[in-house]
Amino acid sequence: MSLPSALKFANLPTKIEKLDRLSKELGDVEIYIKRDDQTGTEISGNKIRKLEFAVKEALEQKCDYLITCGGIQSNHARATAAIAARLGLKSYLVLRGTREDDIEGNYFLDKILGADIKFIAPEDYRERRTDIMLELADELNRKGHKAYVIPEGASNGIGTFGYYRAMEEILKQEVDLGFKFDAIVTAVGSGGTYAGLFYANLAYKNSAKIIGFNVCDDSSYFKERIKNILEDSFKYTGERIEFSKDDINIMDGYVGKGYAISSPEEIRFIHRFAKLEGIILDPVYTGKAMLGLVGEIEKGKLKHYRKILFIHTGGIFGVFSKKDMFFL
Ligand SMILES: *Cc1c(COP(=O)(O)O)cnc(C)c1O
Repeated sequence: MSLPSALKFANLPTKIEKLDRLSKELGDVEIYIKRDDQTGTEISGNKIRKLEFAVKEALEQKCDYLITCGGIQSNHARATAAIAARLGLKSYLVLRGTREDDIEGNYFLDKILGADIKFIAPEDYRERRTDIMLELADELNRKGHKAYVIPEGASNGIGTFGYYRAMEEILKQEVDLGFKFDAIVTAVGSGGTYAGLFYANLAYKNSAKIIGFNVCDDSSYFKERIKNILEDSFKYTGERIEFSKDDINIMDGYVGKGYAISSPEEIRFIHRFAKLEGIILDPVYTGKAMLGLVGEIEKGKLKHYRKILFIHTGGIFGVFSKKDMFFL
């Protein structure tokens, strides 16, 4: 299948490492981690893989402004600001909330990377973020710019190919490792990462189960959302793959107090994991997803899976805005 073309910014392939001590604690299971938190520094995390495709399309359309949206600590918004600056483009970030006096984490990086920033109220974010981005694009276009709008998380048809490619990368790495993973696990926030992994897993008729842990909304919301993202991506390749929504495996139960809200239990888990394995998970996505994975294994729900690959999708800068919770 021929994929759309892409820019090359991420440090690829990202390493796959075994989590020796966690695996031992859980017994009878081997957990590996794919270090997509090491795709880069300013661009670190999963969003760069999707942006490599989306921003290529923006350049092909001769755009000079990237507009996107997210929460105040959005990893995706920060990666967009970084790639825009790397390419000599401008970025405009529509962030949910009001300006925080504490200029911290990703928001701090957005500012030093030169992004234009507009804050909008949570209800406007929920109901009107796309319209608001399109209005901004109109305004910039009237001033002689050409704006390209990237949806939340770059989770659309074009962005999906980032994790299609990542799945191909995993299949190659399995050859070197000499074994295959029974399950591949990711956090799910806007669905594009899951969609790309799922798409390539189907296209290659690979036997692994792709398991997502949602960090907002619920499983039925994401089954629908991921189906729609995939429909959108089939338009790019001209090849549709048949699947049932029920093949999309999203595990409910680990959203906790809500999107980007941490509980003391989650923070304690991130802290314990850091000391155990020397790897920092983030409070919004990977901390909840890894807690979910460990929780499901402990409940005996994943017994059929002996070799599990967890994708560390990044988010390191998000820990700084929660630092006070680590030492309560
Ligand atoms: C955005 C994000 C995710 C979720 O990926 P989606 O493709 O939006 O579902 C997971 N982890 C981190 C660190 C992220 O920034």
